[in-house]
Amino acid sequence: MANNMRYFIGNWKMFGEPGSIGILNKINRFVKSDKKFNKKYKVIITPPHTLVQSYAKAFSKQKIIIGSQNCYHKDSFGAYTGAISPYMIKSVDAKYIIVGHSDNRSEGDTDEMLKNKVENSLKNKLKVVFCIGENSEHKKQKKTFEVLKKQLGNVLEKKFNPKDIIVAYEPIWSIGTGQIPQYDDLYKTVKFIKKILKSIFGNQSSAVLYGGSVDSENISQFSPLNEIDGFLIGGASKSDQNFVDIIKNYYK
Ligand code: PEP
Repeated sequence: MANNMRYFIGNWKMFGEPGSIGILNKINRFVKSDKKFNKKYKVIITPPHTLVQSYAKAFSKQKIIIGSQNCYHKDSFGAYTGAISPYMIKSVDAKYIIVGHSDNRSEGDTDEMLKNKVENSLKNKLKVVFCIGENSEHKKQKKTFEVLKKQLGNVLEKKFNPKDIIVAYEPIWSIGTGQIPQYDDLYKTVKFIKKILKSIFGNQSSAVLYGGSVDSENISQFSPLNEIDGFLIGGASKSDQNFVDIIKNYYK
């Protein structure tokens, strides 16, 4: 493992209004009081675009970090109704961005678009959480490694700084279903992803997270898996209690 830093990243998806900041205040209060924080782990929350500016401002001198979800594949400004570019996201002080989530891939994101999203995000000094993962059909047909290799190889390039990229392995069959991978399968898959990253970036590596139905009950099953550098957490990140319990139980 490249380093011991763990990431707990909350993906709020289409959830949240200004008053939801109370959830983040409670998470922030917990991490402030936790001695392990900063030395051992970081907390990043990605609310929807509507909340990024106010939340980033509220937590700019606090412990938790505000990121964002998805962006348009073209940068700067332009005649693209409803679109939000990496430049615009950076301008309201997000530090991270989720790119390649299966929700967005299923809405039409191609590898070419994802490469532009990654490149433009990095250009704007946003750290990228790049999601990859097989669907249940790929898994059944034992095509997981083939799919992951393509998803990584078609988007990531040697010229990108691997330290600015976090790869989140999120098997689609696991997102929001309550199903998590078998320990051995996950171990082998994360090892495989790290091997591919090495072939792209050389010796420096990106952190590799797991995402898919992580909750405060099953998190302890992931603790012994040293290869995993953290977690991308969807549903359970909308509750401060669940999110804090995930961190607590991971280190139990
Ligand atoms: C996600 O959508 O990124 C995710 C991991 O969701 P959940 O934790 O709800 O499975």
